Amino acid sequence: MPPPVDPVTSPVTFPFENGAIRLITVIDPVSGRHSVVCDLCDQSISLGIRAASKPLFNHRGADPCQRTAFKRDKKASKERILAGTGSPEDEKLVNTSFKSYSTVSLLVLNKMCNHVGAHILHSLRSTNDPKPCSKQAVGENPCGFCGLEGCLTQLQEKKKGSLSVASNCPYHYAAMNYKAAAKFSKAVPCSNVPVHCPLCSTSVSGQPQTIWKYNAMYHLIHEHSIGDTSPPIPGQLLVQIFITKEEERALGIQEQVTASWRRQNNIPDSDGFEVYLQGPQVDKRTRSDTVSTVNSDKHDSKRNKLGYIQE
Ligand SMILES: [Zn+2]
Ligand SMILES: [Zn+2]
Ligand SMILES: [Zn+2]
Ligand SMILES: [Zn+2]
Repeated sequence: MPPPVDPVTSPVTFPFENGAIRLITVIDPVSGRHSVVCDLCDQSISLGIRAASKPLFNHRGADPCQRTAFKRDKKASKERILAGTGSPEDEKLVNTSFKSYSTVSLLVLNKMCNHVGAHILHSLRSTNDPKPCSKQAVGENPCGFCGLEGCLTQLQEKKKGSLSVASNCPYHYAAMNYKAAAKFSKAVPCSNVPVHCPLCSTSVSGQPQTIWKYNAMYHLIHEHSIGDTSPPIPGQLLVQIFITKEEERALGIQEQVTASWRRQNNIPDSDGFEVYLQGPQVDKRTRSDTVSTVNSDKHDSKRNKLGYIQE
């Protein structure tokens, strides 16, 4: 039997959207259970006696939350129309189904993710962004949803191995199909998704630390270098964070920029690498489980100094 857990006896605050929104729990005097009202849909979310954050992060912005918010807004529009105070927006909303409504908003978010990914990649490759548009420059360790620093995103592995993403980013694309998003496609080239860092220690929630695919190199160098030596990259992570030439090209990175970045970082050429990725059955001798990295000049070149060594 697991040991009894101590209840949390004072209200807990959960910040969202870079602290612009703060949701504070209320405690039931009898049961001691925390609950919090979702600011998007006005539903009360039960968080238990420990005020666990997970139910809230999983809920806010996800499909049931959007659905509830949609129903609420539609109802309010209907009431205004009946009262004779309806606007053209109200007329539009009462004639929209949730399905077409959410497809429209999801498309916007999906595009946003892709759009931001192009900016991040230009910044990573230190190449001129032909279409800079944000007032703020892309951060060193940017959020893949919005391109700025400071968002908290967590990749969660469910019991059956399915993956879900929780985030406090205002542009969190909650309906993201992880497997599809992690793959390059012509329609949505950007494959920047949250991945787990196998080198970080596991967090309190029992889930490994989450990093963005595009930021993985930066993370490895800054968090896992030992002295001047970058850590070996576990093979599986290398597979997850590899960006194909096709993807870079689709996001506007010139081929010679990709090539020289790869040379600088000892990243193998796409085609050869894909053979390498196919697994032990193909050629045991050329596959190693980790990829060693050498990092000699800590400061200036730290960002670009991960290496790749075959056995
Ligand atoms: Zn909600
Ligand atoms: Zn932009
Ligand atoms: Zn963000
Ligand atoms: Zn790490």
